[in-house]
This record gives sequence, structure tokens and C-alpha cells, in this order.
Amino acid sequence: MTDVHHDVVVVGDGPVGLVHAAAQAAAGRSVAVIGPGRRHPAGTFELLSGDLAPVLQVVGILHDVRTRAPRCAGTVFRWGNDAFTEQNGQQDRWAGGWVIDRSWFDQALRDVVAASFPQIEFLDGNATTVQRAAGVWAVEVAGPAQDRMAVAGRSLSLATGRSDRLHSGAGLPAVRRHPMVAITCRIPNGLPDLGPRLLVDAADNGWWYAMGDGRSSTVGYVTDADLLAAGPDRIRATWAAAIPSAPWVPGDLVDAPVVARRSVVGDCPPRAGDTAALPVGDAVLSADPLSGHGLLVGLRGALHAAADLDGYLSWVSEQITVHREQERRLYKHVAGARPGHGEFWIRRCR
Ligand SMILES: Cc1cc2nc3c(=O)[nH]c(=O)nc-3n(C[C@H](O)[C@H](O)[C@H](O)COP(=O)(O)OP(=O)(O)OC[C@H]3O[C@@H](n4cnc5c(N)ncnc54)[C@H](O)[C@@H]3O)c2cc1C
Repeated sequence: MTDVHHDVVVVGDGPVGLVHAAAQAAAGRSVAVIGPGRRHPAGTFELLSGDLAPVLQVVGILHDVRTRAPRCAGTVFRWGNDAFTEQNGQQDRWAGGWVIDRSWFDQALRDVVAASFPQIEFLDGNATTVQRAAGVWAVEVAGPAQDRMAVAGRSLSLATGRSDRLHSGAGLPAVRRHPMVAITCRIPNGLPDLGPRLLVDAADNGWWYAMGDGRSSTVGYVTDADLLAAGPDRIRATWAAAIPSAPWVPGDLVDAPVVARRSVVGDCPPRAGDTAALPVGDAVLSADPLSGHGLLVGLRGALHAAADLDGYLSWVSEQITVHREQERRLYKHVAGARPGHGEFWIRRCR
């Protein structure tokens, strides 16, 4: 068992963990990042808000994003009415951002952070337990070759995404959670006419989206986890049953390979004081995928948490309130426009 000591231990090597580690290192603290280095499959497209440009500039990845990712050209949506509507320009909250493929973005971010902050120690593996004793955090890590490591830090930041497995050891309150699932499928040659745009379409028990970079696209169906079809292959059965509800989805995708993305929506307001770890990104506020703003809130918070802890705690509470209200209004609008639809909308109408 190896022992490593740092000022800050960051568990989670997604975008938020990496940016938070960079900000901690820039503030002169010694930092270790623990993560399995696992990346999303190619074609996992997400919108990166244009409002993140200053954060991307600070981290040193703005140039890469500008040269590799197309600008999001707008949104096409059918949100409670019969016809698709195209939004672009200033009224579109998503236009002006970039369509990124998380398979390259996460890796590029890691490369940039590692090159700019060679003092950050990257430790491959999964944190299995965290606990605090005598003012020091102890993190146990299972490495890729079943090796085990103990990592100690004066403070602990949790950037573990939508998994809350370490929350109770980290002294954090239970996450208020609402489990959703996104079933996604990649179309290598892209959906005709989609281009670098986002398409959103309400369905009876969830909603569809499509997003691409102008060459290939990903189509996804999002629903509540407890509304998945019953039976042995719930994901495939749900996918097959939903496809007829979206005539624009090519019918032959029924048999195409799909990936289920766990999309728990939840929040866990962090606690003041030094007996609890600091949660950042999805670990503190996992937005509904519909918001398209998970990275915006997560990456801004990653910098904020490193610079001004007290300010961060009240900022997070505000963000939780703002996000939940936005989601409620957005869903209620659709639910009101599509009366009599499935349980997914009935829940969101209450
Ligand atoms: C279907 C879907 C679509 C979305 N679309 C968008 C979008 O268009 N735009 C947008 O801005 N956001 C979108 N989001 C949200 C966005 O994906 C998240 O907000 C973002 O990934 C948060 O980054 P993160 O670093 O906090 O978490 P993650 O990206 O989940 O990274 C967490 C990391 O922690 C690691 N980890 C977890 N547990 C441990 C452990 N015990 N030990 C070590 N490492 C651990 C994981 O391996 C992972 O690498 C979407 C989300 C979903 C589900």
C-alpha cells in the first residue's frame, strides 16, 4: 500500500474534477486527482454553453474547442405542439455554444490540465472509501491491477458525477434524487438535415433528442427509470416501443446498438465547516439533461469552489433553486400543452 499526502484530494476525473484540480493547483495547493480515466464512447455529443468561454480560456482549452467543435447552429423543437419550430439567434439559449463530443473533450481537457500543471498527481483507480480522522481525509483507492493505495489530504473534493456512493463517508447529506435514463444510439453518417443543431421532441412518456457535429449524430430517448418497460431487456424494449412516437427517427434503429446513460437528477447542498467534503459538479447538482447546462454550472462551480469556499456554498444553494424552478417551468409548459399524456408528464404537472 502506497501513501500519498496532498493539500487537496479530488475524487473524480471528469471535466469538473479536472478544472477544479487545475484551480486548486493554480492557487498553490498540492493536488491529487483520483479517477479511472474512463471516457464516454465516441459520438457522446453535448452542448457546451458559449457562456463558458472565460472558463475554457482560463484552463487553456478554448482554442481546441474553437477549432475542433462546431458552433451549435440552433434548436429545432416540438415541445407540446404539432409542428417543429426552429429557434436561432438571441432567443435560443443553446445557440452560440459548441457541440462537443465528450470522448475527445474530456481527454483533451485532461491533457491540457496535465501539461499546464505538472505538479498535479494523477492516480488511476476508483476511490472505494473516504473517511476523516484527526483532521485528515483518508481515501482508499483500488487501482487498475487490483493494487490498493491510501491517499491522504487536508481537504477532499468530490467530483464523482451522478454517483453518490461516497457521499455518506464524505459527511454529505443524502442526495435528493430522481432517477432518469437516457437511451442513446449513434448514427455514424448523421441524421439528414440535422447539422450541428439540437433537436428536442416531446413523446408520451419522455422526450427525444438528437445532436450531431454535422457529420455523425446521436439520438437519445429520455424517460424516468421506473417507466422503463418491464421484462428481461428493459432498455431495448423501451427503445423499440418509443421509436414509433418519433417519425423522424429512422425505423432501422430499432435493432441498432444502444447505450443507457444513467441520468439521475438530484442535488445535495454542501455543508459549511471542515468536517464534510466539498462536492462539485454533478456531485452537488445534477441537472435534468433537458437543461443542457450541466457543464456550465459544473465548470463555473469548479473554479468558484477553489477560490472562495463561503461564496461557493451560497452560490450552490442559489443554483439549485434556480435550476429546479427552470426545469419545473419548462416541463409544466409541455405537460400543460399535451394533456392526457403519460405518467412522465402527469408527474411534472403536479
Ligand atoms: C443524457 C445526458 C445529456 C446531457 N447533455 C448535456 C448537454 O448537452 N450539455 C451540458 O452542459 N450537460 C449535459 N449533461 C450533463 C453533463 O454530462 C454533466 O453535467 C457533466 O458530465 C458533469 O461533469 P462531472 O465532472 O461533474 O461528472 P462526470 O462527467 O460524470 O465525471 C465524473 C467522473 O468521476 C469518476 N468517478 C465516479 N466515482 C468515482 C470514484 N469512486 N473514484 C474515482 N472516480 C470516480 C467517473 O469515472 C467520472 O469520470 C447531460 C447529461 C446526461 C445524462
